[in-house]
Amino acid sequence: MEPLLHFAIAFALAAVLRFRLKWALALGLVGILPDFDVLFFMHRSVSHSMLPPLLLLLTSPLLWSSRIKAPLLAVSLSWASHGFLDFIDDYTPILFPLSSKSYKLVFESTLFMKSSPFISMSLRVLEKTYNYGVFTSFDAPLFTASGLAIGLLLITLVLSVYYGGHRRLLEKLSPRMSAA
Ligand SMILES: [Zn+2]
Repeated sequence: MEPLLHFAIAFALAAVLRFRLKWALALGLVGILPDFDVLFFMHRSVSHSMLPPLLLLLTSPLLWSSRIKAPLLAVSLSWASHGFLDFIDDYTPILFPLSSKSYKLVFESTLFMKSSPFISMSLRVLEKTYNYGVFTSFDAPLFTASGLAIGLLLITLVLSVYYGGHRRLLEKLSPRMSAA
């Protein structure tokens, strides 16, 4: 999945958890971090495993003080959101190192219109062996039209919540409007 969507969804999660804007922005960036594996010439690599963030999520109430429990919870949710979003998008090694496979969640829903309408739905988890290798060339879209539209819409909605509504957000983005 493209970086903007990873950012936007982690940012929205942080907003739902009522983090301050600067922390929500930071948590949005945490949502992108697993894709930095491309710097090591790998893609959808072990950095996408959901086990480390889930472990952090489960152990943080036991191991850490209440002061840092909430930030740890947010970091683990942002981190895990990346693996989950890639899992619904394409094959991802979300269970590494417990499993040496990559998994993909496929949800399909189709509407058939004949003499009477009929809806078919299916939910499957596909798997294939995870390739630990590095790539020599890499080619993936940074943005798609739908991803850009959904990502920007989500970010705008979240920002409008932080700024107390769309009008206040527009004033913030356009200082001349607020002066008028
Ligand atoms: Zn990824």
